Amino acid sequence: MLKKRAIYPGTFDPVTYGHLDLVKRGLHLFDEIIVAVAVLSSKDTLFTLKERVSMVKEATKDLQGVKVESFGGLVVDFAKQKNIRIILRGLRMISDFEYEFQMALTNRRLADSIETIFMMPNERYSYLSSRLIKEAVALGSGALGFIPAHVEKALKKKFKRR
Ligand code: ADP
Repeated sequence: MLKKRAIYPGTFDPVTYGHLDLVKRGLHLFDEIIVAVAVLSSKDTLFTLKERVSMVKEATKDLQGVKVESFGGLVVDFAKQKNIRIILRGLRMISDFEYEFQMALTNRRLADSIETIFMMPNERYSYLSSRLIKEAVALGSGALGFIPAHVEKALKKKFKRR
């Protein structure tokens, strides 16, 4: 039987339990999920591409069916290159909706054969973002149960160096 595969693209700066919750939910629907870490982002990243990829790899190492890769350029081109037709994205709040809606329709315009599907994380992660956790840790907070230990360690190290 043909494997059901999806791409989960994002900046992952850094990966949080919200992202991981989504990947785990996605595995109920897909046999394989490629977590695709964007080389370039409209956001300034705190972590380098290598660091972001390596943190996602560590966080997903026990999840069967998950691959971690990086991509540059358009996500639809990456999907085509991989022969994958589904883009997985997370919706936390209504505030995510507008941006995600625009992006999904732009991607559809670019490649009509590729569908974006959205999943909602556990409500405990519905207000969690990489930005929020970076701010909290920069100001001296702990991980608040939002990021794996290796990510917390990396974040603390980053902020100590500054
Ligand atoms: P991007 O820069 O592409 O938005 P992010 O790493 O911020 O990259 O997010 C990647 C995807 O993961 C997006 O679809 C985003 O909505 C989703 N996401 C981010 N944080 C969470 C979370 N706490 N719960 C569920 N989905 C999330």
